[in-house]
Amino acid sequence: MKLSGTITKVSGPLVVANGLADANVSDVVRVGEQRLIGEILNMTGDSASIQVYEETSGLGPGAKVETTGMPLSVELGPGMLENIYDGIQRPLPAIESHMGSFIERGAHEPSLDTAAKWDVTVTVKAGDTLTPGQIYATCPETPAIEHRCMVPPTVSGTVTWVADNGSYTVNEPIVKLTDAKGKEHTLTLCQKWPIRTPRPSAERMTSPRPLITGQRVIDTMFPLAKGGAAAIPGGFGTGKTMTQHQIAKWCDADIIIYVGCGERGNEMTQALQEFSELVDPRTGKSLMDRTVLIANTSNMPVAAREASIYTGITLAEYYRDMGYHAAMMADSTSRWAEALREISGRLEEMPADEGYPAYLPSRLAEFYERAGYVRTLNGAEGSVSVIGAVSPQGNDFSEPVTQNTKRFVRCFWGLDKSLAYARHFPAIHWLTSYSEYLNDLSHWYQDNVSPKFVDYRNRLMALLNQESSLLEIVKLIGSDVLPDDQKLVLEIARVIRLGFLQQNAFHPDDTCVSMEKQFLMMDTILYLYKQARTLVTMGHPMSVLKSENIFDRVIAIKYDVPNNRPEMFAQYHRDIDAFYQHVLEKNA
Ligand code: ADP
Repeated sequence: MKLSGTITKVSGPLVVANGLADANVSDVVRVGEQRLIGEILNMTGDSASIQVYEETSGLGPGAKVETTGMPLSVELGPGMLENIYDGIQRPLPAIESHMGSFIERGAHEPSLDTAAKWDVTVTVKAGDTLTPGQIYATCPETPAIEHRCMVPPTVSGTVTWVADNGSYTVNEPIVKLTDAKGKEHTLTLCQKWPIRTPRPSAERMTSPRPLITGQRVIDTMFPLAKGGAAAIPGGFGTGKTMTQHQIAKWCDADIIIYVGCGERGNEMTQALQEFSELVDPRTGKSLMDRTVLIANTSNMPVAAREASIYTGITLAEYYRDMGYHAAMMADSTSRWAEALREISGRLEEMPADEGYPAYLPSRLAEFYERAGYVRTLNGAEGSVSVIGAVSPQGNDFSEPVTQNTKRFVRCFWGLDKSLAYARHFPAIHWLTSYSEYLNDLSHWYQDNVSPKFVDYRNRLMALLNQESSLLEIVKLIGSDVLPDDQKLVLEIARVIRLGFLQQNAFHPDDTCVSMEKQFLMMDTILYLYKQARTLVTMGHPMSVLKSENIFDRVIAIKYDVPNNRPEMFAQYHRDIDAFYQHVLEKNA
């Protein structure tokens, strides 16, 4: 077997080596004396092009390359939550404690702590027949999440031996089983899975429920289904990272996988600090209890960035298979696409749009298609939702990454530079954004929030659309000539924009808002519109209506009504009635 070869060329993260006749595409290789980790991208004869996940300086022709014969895989087991990994699942905290802050090349640290003991409950017994995906043991991974060890998708058989309940490390045997061919398999608390292969499930389903994020413009206007995929494109400073952080902090997924892909290093540090200080509102425990961070800042090698997306989604699928709802955030997929472009350029492949490789669309499709709401192999329901940030250069949404991403996601939150400039956050523009999940989810909203929810949401949207056409007229001839009913539309649309769509991530109450409050806010705004419209129809001028400060009071509801005081909304209805009476009397 020709499993080791010699480097003939080094070009940045790309290494070409000869003499690897028996290696295969996608094999992981060890490069040079430092045994840097790489992956074979393509083979011509016995020559392999290898992308190396670590800095290649100092490497030259003549150095040795060895293939491991295995595809790039992650190790899945307890201890992943609360951890911080790089793009190829090396645990950064463990490496730091051994090596200090500057990670040396070729660092080899097991992805899961091999010394940690887990309090294991074995859920099967000798004689049981196990099928792929079946749970054979559980252990509390963090105070919030129970880890469920599953038979690997490729294994089945009859149990011949089980360990007693007790405390075990990830590599100790827990269950032994013999398959139909008589081969014995030993199951531990962990398993490996190749990151570029989606993990199998029994059935893909239409998602019955939204991923609730506590952000009004998302939950009410452009909701994402659990198991759905959303893109959030926006130029520099429009709030991509902030929105991703808000979703990671507040969404109702069980598991959060946050991939910081090629973004600025200090933003990752900020995420780390914020997440570890925050308390999960549902469990009262640390938010890190349900979170895995994958950090690939812009100063790490490009190839590792490419892998981090796959590492992230594989981890998410693994928790999905346990019956959890996982959400993965990737910030930003543009940096990943740029990594593809760089490697493709070095491979001297024929470039397509703006220098990106011709396979960019298929790579994006493969990635977003791994989102989904599924019945798992063991019959449970689980989901992976994906939220990918895109950073188009110069805010130009017609560039290839944004355009191709749009083809594969059904939810699009377009960030707008002028909104961000005007400090309207989240700068998700209501006229360019959309969600195709709305129809699928309308039942959920009707049953769980209010039968009127979808109707109210559509009425707000209609008012915003009316505003947009009226503003065209105003631009030409000014607002004075508009009839009062149209002036009222402009005023109510202002209430919707400032009072409902705008949401302050730094305000303790406004940062995350329950569906109940979102609904009651819509209800109050629409009640104000109804009463004001009656007054306008009766001939009361807008100037009189505006002289009452009721519009601004309704805008301030988001700050003035705490999340846990829904009963306060009744007072606003009384105030609107009082306003109505007052205008009537004033003009009597
Ligand atoms: P990007 O990642 O697109 O470059 P950021 O997420 O860093 O942009 O956002 C830039 C700034 O916008 C933040 O520092 C913050 O001041 C402001 N911002 C974004 N979203 C919000 C929000 N929901 N509430 C308040 N401020 C926000």
